Amino acid sequence: MRDYHVHSNYSDGAFLFRMVAAAEDAGLDAVGIADHCILPVSERQRHNRNAVGFSLDATYERRRAAIDRLDERGDLDVYDAVEMDYDPRAEEDIADFLAEVDFDYAIGSVHSVDDTFVQWDGEFADMDEGELDAFVDDYYDALVDLVESELFAIAAHPDLVERTDSLRGRSTVDHYRRVADAFTDSRTVPELNAGRALREIGVVHPADEFLEALLDRGVEVTLGTDAHEPDELGPRADFLRDRAADLGTEPASPFDTG
Ligand SMILES: [Zn+2]
Ligand SMILES: [Zn+2]
Repeated sequence: MRDYHVHSNYSDGAFLFRMVAAAEDAGLDAVGIADHCILPVSERQRHNRNAVGFSLDATYERRRAAIDRLDERGDLDVYDAVEMDYDPRAEEDIADFLAEVDFDYAIGSVHSVDDTFVQWDGEFADMDEGELDAFVDDYYDALVDLVESELFAIAAHPDLVERTDSLRGRSTVDHYRRVADAFTDSRTVPELNAGRALREIGVVHPADEFLEALLDRGVEVTLGTDAHEPDELGPRADFLRDRAADLGTEPASPFDTG
């Protein structure tokens, strides 16, 4: 099993060597370290990036040296990857950055839409039902833009809105079909993401109906635990392995997609 989505202390995860040790303990063949990186296109994004330190563009060289050492040490392959915030306004900056830095592969994520952060429930406290539905529409529009940009090998947690209390349940089959159609024409593949699978709310991305729309169209998915702590990695990897086996689908690789 290859887990393509793990964080380290180069963004909001535990020490890199501990995350790699956890992947070894879990018996994985490969682990992809995909730390957050924001190339801000607004004051709010700049503030957020500075507040949380998602600036792999400033630190990737030293992380790369550390990853290379860990990769050479044992049987486990360790990939040098990134989870970039996608914003349509940042496309050119992202393209330039990815071409310059040449990660093993890049993951793209819609974490915010027009500077509203998808996962922060407080953002939605003053919105009425119509506004919340409209936000979810905008989220899927941005996701389609991400997929059509073909900047990334992987699109992370494609129905991320389902993580957020105010937004959960507003995704529709129409949203799923639109995004699934976009994936059929793109090098970008979605991931099966276990970031909230074993929590109380038990959200797996993509949701069953979404996954069905993808698999119906022959779109394959990569596996990502989205682990930030060592003890999250093994149980989530087991969960994803079982889930992929149940689905009868062979997990995709970001290295097949160019
Ligand atoms: Zn993410
Ligand atoms: Zn992540």
